[in-house]
Amino acid sequence: MKCLICNSSSLHFLLNPFRGSSIYRCDSCTNAITIPAPEDKYEENRFYQKGEEDVQAYTAYSGLILDYIKNVKPEGNLLDIGCGAGYLLEEAGKAGYRAQGVDISKGAIAFCKKRRLNVRQGYFGRIKFPENYFDILVASHVVEHNPDPSLFVKKCRKLLKKDGLLFLSQTNYTGSVAKLLGRYWEGWVPNEHYSHFSPVGIEYLLSENKFRILRLSILPLGYKIICHFGNFSEIANSLYNTFNYLISRFKLIRPFSGDQMYILAVKDR
Ligand SMILES: [Zn+2]
Repeated sequence: MKCLICNSSSLHFLLNPFRGSSIYRCDSCTNAITIPAPEDKYEENRFYQKGEEDVQAYTAYSGLILDYIKNVKPEGNLLDIGCGAGYLLEEAGKAGYRAQGVDISKGAIAFCKKRRLNVRQGYFGRIKFPENYFDILVASHVVEHNPDPSLFVKKCRKLLKKDGLLFLSQTNYTGSVAKLLGRYWEGWVPNEHYSHFSPVGIEYLLSENKFRILRLSILPLGYKIICHFGNFSEIANSLYNTFNYLISRFKLIRPFSGDQMYILAVKDR
């Protein structure tokens, strides 16, 4: 077995998450992988219509991502990889971007099409997109679902124009909350996540594929964002969210580092 990011075979057992397979940490790049790897199948029934409260949360979350991008690139062609129900596409459209999306979920894509969003259904890796065309690519909690992160980033590089931006949001398994919760941390999702990112690991992946990081922020992973992917009940999620909020608000763990990363990188050279 080898690290999915740096190919090193120096891996050590880290823990067994609450549900499912083992997590191994790479000694070389500090990223982690799930062993055995998740089954490469997508379950359509995981998509469901969001309630009013969730729509508000997703819209706010999309706004946060766009704020991150706007300062560097206030306009252009944007592709949201794993666009889900299309809330980011809607907000990007309002902000003046020419936005399109791709998602594997037929339900999510039908929901997007009803609202006349520019979307395609299928795997990002298997769909042909124009090269040197996009100014911005967004992949929010997507790369960990890919068995070959490097291939994913290489394709992103091809589609981007010179100086194009890649925005990623990833869980940070080296964060304080993740460490404190250990095998109970919600970010593991071993039945779906091939990789578990650390700040060093994501930097390695991007620089190896000729991207330069402009900004890397570490923030808490909110329940409203993760609930779609998680295994816990609503009550457990609310407790988790409150706990995460208290720790980040009052810096209860020192040195505090959140369990989510926002990364903005530019196509380099
Ligand atoms: Zn590695």
